[in-house]
Amino acid sequence: MFNLVIFGPPGSGKGTQSEYIIKKYGLMHLSTGDLLRAEKNSGSELGNRIKELIDAGNLVPDEMVEEMVKKHVMLNRNAAGFIFDGFPRTTAQAEWLDNLLACIGESVTLMLTLDVDDDELRTRILERGKISGRADDQNVSIINNRIAVYHKQTQPVINFYAAQDKYVSVNGVGSLDKVFDRICRAMDNAQQLELAM
Ligand code: ADP
Repeated sequence: MFNLVIFGPPGSGKGTQSEYIIKKYGLMHLSTGDLLRAEKNSGSELGNRIKELIDAGNLVPDEMVEEMVKKHVMLNRNAAGFIFDGFPRTTAQAEWLDNLLACIGESVTLMLTLDVDDDELRTRILERGKISGRADDQNVSIINNRIAVYHKQTQPVINFYAAQDKYVSVNGVGSLDKVFDRICRAMDNAQQLELAM
């Protein structure tokens, strides 16, 4: 399996680039944001709790997200690999993911961060909000909170993967094709390294 963690701040292009990656590499996309929004829109009691957190730009508790990820991974164990998009977002989630993958004899192959500065993120998210209709994409103070949450709770996850020599950073600014080229180069390198081991 090729298991990719696509990482980066909100608005860095993880979802968009994931679509390109799926087409080329045939991996299974697992976006915790998408899974959580589906639950949120279901109108269930759990969905209402999730809505409050997402709409304020805060993280959903680890256990809630982990439950969803586990279900998805177990159901798709025959996939060529996974793209984890928006997960892990805390170091606890990263440790948990290592354990989950170990249970099926797998591991994270590469953690790839899309590097985009905060001003560009704010511009992109507000622009996306016009189309996405997402409440958390349309309010500047919520967007600022999401970026702050990223720096405080999520960015430290980089250290976790750097310590395993799995971390690569890619410039996320430029045309979609250019960014995708950079991603492919990083993925192909990681695949060759794995084959050589
Ligand atoms: P973006 O990358 O633009 O922030 P996502 O769709 O990945 O968008 O996430 C939207 C929201 O869903 C986050 O702000 C957070 O509230 C929640 N969320 C997504 N993934 C996780 C996660 N792994 N842990 C906790 N909360 C999450």
